[in-house]
Amino acid sequence: MYDLAIIGAGINGCSVAYELSRAGKKVLLFDSQGVASGGSGAAGAFISPKFSKSGELKELLHDAFLYSMEFYEKNFPQLLTKAPLLHIAKDEEESLMLKEYKKTTTLKLQTPSQELLNQLLPHAKEYENISLDAGVVDAQKMCEAMSKNVYFKREKVESLVYDNGMWIINETYSAKDVILATGAYEAVIEEPYINLRGIWGHRIDIKTSTKNDCSIHQYLSISPSQEGVLALGATHNVHYHPQRNSEPYDIEDGRKELLQKASKTMALEDIEILRDYTGLRSGSVDYMPLVGNIVMSKETLACKNIRFDVKKREYDEFTYYPNLYMINGSAGYGFVLGPYLAKILSEHILSAKKIDNSLSPARFFARWARRL
Ligand SMILES: Cc1cc2nc3c(=O)[nH]c(=O)nc-3n(C[C@H](O)[C@H](O)[C@H](O)COP(=O)(O)OP(=O)(O)OC[C@H]3O[C@@H](n4cnc5c(N)ncnc54)[C@H](O)[C@@H]3O)c2cc1C
Repeated sequence: MYDLAIIGAGINGCSVAYELSRAGKKVLLFDSQGVASGGSGAAGAFISPKFSKSGELKELLHDAFLYSMEFYEKNFPQLLTKAPLLHIAKDEEESLMLKEYKKTTTLKLQTPSQELLNQLLPHAKEYENISLDAGVVDAQKMCEAMSKNVYFKREKVESLVYDNGMWIINETYSAKDVILATGAYEAVIEEPYINLRGIWGHRIDIKTSTKNDCSIHQYLSISPSQEGVLALGATHNVHYHPQRNSEPYDIEDGRKELLQKASKTMALEDIEILRDYTGLRSGSVDYMPLVGNIVMSKETLACKNIRFDVKKREYDEFTYYPNLYMINGSAGYGFVLGPYLAKILSEHILSAKKIDNSLSPARFFARWARRL
C-alpha cells in the first residue's frame, strides 16, 4: 500500500513525486512509456518568464520563474545551465509590448552584448528585444533525478477504482491519494468539462560550428551551444496528434521548418542534425494550468440546492472525487511551472492549504455548468 500514486512521469508528475517523497511519503509513480517520454522529453526546457502586458498567467509565470530558478539551482545545480536569455519580438506589435514590459517589470534586465547582437541577422535586429539572466535544464535527466527516490512502474494505468477509502489501480496497487499528471496523452478519468488540448512540438539537437552563449527566443527557441551542440525547438503544430492522425509525423518536414525559422534569427553554419525529440504539450482554453481536486460533474449537477447560473461562486459546494487531484495544462512552460505547482499541490494535500481558484480545475466545471 502506498501513500500516493502519481500517474504520468513528465515534469509535473516528477516534480510532485520529488516534493512528496521529500516529505517522507511512500510514492508510486506510473508511466506507460517511461520517465519523460511525453512532452517533457521533447522540451527545450528553457526557464523563462512570460513577456506579456498583464494578466494572471504573466503573474503566475513571474513567480514560478523566480521560484524554479532557485529550486533547480539549489537542488539540481548540475542539470541547470545558467545563461542569459535574449527574447526578440516577432513583429511591431510584440515590439510595443516588450517596451511596455520593460517599463513595468521588477525583474533585473540586461543589455545584450554587442558581440551577441552582431550574431543576429538584420531582420532580427529590426525588432525590440529583452534580455535577463535565465537558464535551461536537461529535460530528461531532470525528470529522472526528481523521480529517483520513488517507486516507479512502467505501466499504463487503465483502471482506477475507489473502494473503502483507497484507490485501487489496475486492480493491483492501492494508494490513499492519486494524482493525475497525464499531460495531453490520456484522460484516465473522463469529465466533460476538462478540455485540454495537445499541441505537437519538435526539437532537434544540431552540431554546428556557430558558437552561441545564450538562449535566443524569436520564431523558435535556440539554446546555448555546449561542445558544438545546440538545440532548436518549437511547439506550434495544432493539427498533428500521435493518437488521432493515421499518418506518422513527417520528421523531415519538421526539421526543415525548424531550420528555416532559426535562419530568420541567426546564421547557423555547418549544420549536422544529431537527434530529434517530439511530443505533445497540453494547454487549457484560458491558458492557465489546472492544479487541485477534480469535481464529479454528475454528482454535483444532481445537487438541487446549487444554482449554476451565478457568475461568482464558491467552489466548496461542489462534490469532488475523494483524494484525487490533477496537475496539468502547463502549455509551453512545464519546466518553469513544474516545481512551483508541485509545491502548491503538495501543500494542499499534506496541509490542506487552499489552492487559488484561478488554478483549480473547478473553474472549468463552474463555466461548463453555467452554460448547461
Ligand atoms: C518541443 C517542445 C519544446 C518545449 N519547450 C519548453 C521549454 O523550453 N520550457 C518549458 O518550460 N516547457 C517547454 N515545453 C512544454 C513542456 O514540455 C510541457 O509543459 C511539459 O512537458 C508538460 O509536462 P507534463 O508532465 O504535464 O506532461 P508530459 O511530459 O506529457 O507527461 C505526461 C506523461 O503521462 C504519461 N501517461 C499518460 N497517460 C498515462 C496512463 N494512463 N498511464 C501511465 N502513464 C500515462 C505519458 O506517457 C507521459 O509521459 C516544450 C514542449 C515541447 C513539446
